[in-house]
Amino acid sequence: STAVALEEQPIVPLVQVNHTQLLINGQFVEAASGKTFPTLDPRTGEVIAHVAEGDVEDIDRAVAAARKAFDEGPWPRMSAYERSRIMYRFADLLEKHSDELAALEVWDNGKTYEQAAKAELPMVARLFRYYAGWPDKIHGLTAPADGPHHVQILHEPIGVAGQIIPWNFPLLMFAWKVGPALACGNTIVLKTAEQTPLSALYAAKLFHEAGLPDGVLNVVSGFGPTAGAALASHMEVDKLAFTGSTDTGKIVLGLASKSNLKPVTLELGGKSPFIICEDADIDEAVEVAHFALFFNQGQCCCAGSRTYVHERVYDEFVAKAKERARRRVVGDPFKQGVEQGPQIDSEQYEKILKYIKHGIEAGANLEIGGERFGQKGFYIQPTVFSDVQDDMVIAKEEIFGPVQSILKFKDYNEVIKRANSTRYGLAAGVFTKNIDTANTMMRALKAGTVWINCFDVFDAAIPFGGYKMSGQGREKDNKSLAVFSTYKLLVYV
Ligand code: ADP
Repeated sequence: STAVALEEQPIVPLVQVNHTQLLINGQFVEAASGKTFPTLDPRTGEVIAHVAEGDVEDIDRAVAAARKAFDEGPWPRMSAYERSRIMYRFADLLEKHSDELAALEVWDNGKTYEQAAKAELPMVARLFRYYAGWPDKIHGLTAPADGPHHVQILHEPIGVAGQIIPWNFPLLMFAWKVGPALACGNTIVLKTAEQTPLSALYAAKLFHEAGLPDGVLNVVSGFGPTAGAALASHMEVDKLAFTGSTDTGKIVLGLASKSNLKPVTLELGGKSPFIICEDADIDEAVEVAHFALFFNQGQCCCAGSRTYVHERVYDEFVAKAKERARRRVVGDPFKQGVEQGPQIDSEQYEKILKYIKHGIEAGANLEIGGERFGQKGFYIQPTVFSDVQDDMVIAKEEIFGPVQSILKFKDYNEVIKRANSTRYGLAAGVFTKNIDTANTMMRALKAGTVWINCFDVFDAAIPFGGYKMSGQGREKDNKSLAVFSTYKLLVYV
């Protein structure tokens, strides 16, 4: 249990790192090269563990195992009911081991224990139960063909799914990808992010305890240009699902097309607008806009990173947003009451500080923060800029950190145009009490999700994905079943 850890100073997680090898064909194995890489504690920069470093040869081994488990069974041939039961049992095990999984996630990622344990782990279990309910409910269709022909449309699993996930929500991304792929009867090779390899290995081990057959879910830790690229370009991988940056999304899409034209789903970056109208409840809007940006240390693809505020309420909003950021509790993420932990690694930390410098140099008004927090680890002060202009770098590029940019607007047509003038289109938020304004905005905003008077509302049954360069395809819900399926037309007379 980690309960004791939460009381202590300094706080040391009491979870053990038991799994550091690659999980291939149901066995933990070393990398073919024998190489390892360190995974770091973002609170200190110290090494947590050395993890097997997968590369081309390991991806080959994992794909061969997944191929065999798909082509020869048992997974796609097992009864839908039995597959469903294994997934339910896994969800039960996730709950049973929720404390350790949450602690591992915090240790490797730096997110707060409260968030991991109370919000994310329950959501992960919820997602697996949602998908556990699907296998015996996937029906085919018939088509009304002309003439004497009888037409059936079979829904089949697509085959071996390659999945590449990022570091900001390691277990949630594991769930978004693995849940639907398994529900349809596919087998998987999952490449975790090099910053956060630990929790997926633990979870995949639990899945085998729940009865998952060997070779159905293979987990390879390693780097993007090596293991990731090998997976994206593998000729025996039938489908690729990727979450990460837009630049890397372009690379993997290219690799998929240059190899075997495997279909690709992409969930990429964003620069989501959050629009506060003059009639909004300002205190509530300040709180939700703060959450929309600062949640998970600002490391969210859909972060509300352009806060547009109507000129009539602008001064009040800025003052209150600054005060809210001042009150944000930063510290050891294992400690109760802490709202913000460290950023993931030194690279992101340096990048965020560079963006802050850009903002200052471009003439945005630094209201609060702007510097590192504390003496060690990758902590950054909650930072708020006001008077941000659309053409500033901080209003255009994804910062992926605790930096709120506040912009002023006069009228609604203007703000819709400005909100939409970005290469991204992942999400948008609107705060208003006027139903006409809400209706106009939600139809006009070019984003995959529009949240009205709320933000970051996720659910297993709500699909998620982006317009424009924020992605292709949708995840969660039965939309995700569609991307992990293929359709066979049977025509007979
Ligand atoms: P970030 O910059 O936030 O780390 P990335 O898009 O680089 O986001 O990383 C997301 C995932 O993509 C990680 O698992 C990473 O290892 C992987 N990745 C990075 N580069 C490549 C690449 N060239 N080919 C395949 N996967 C990659």
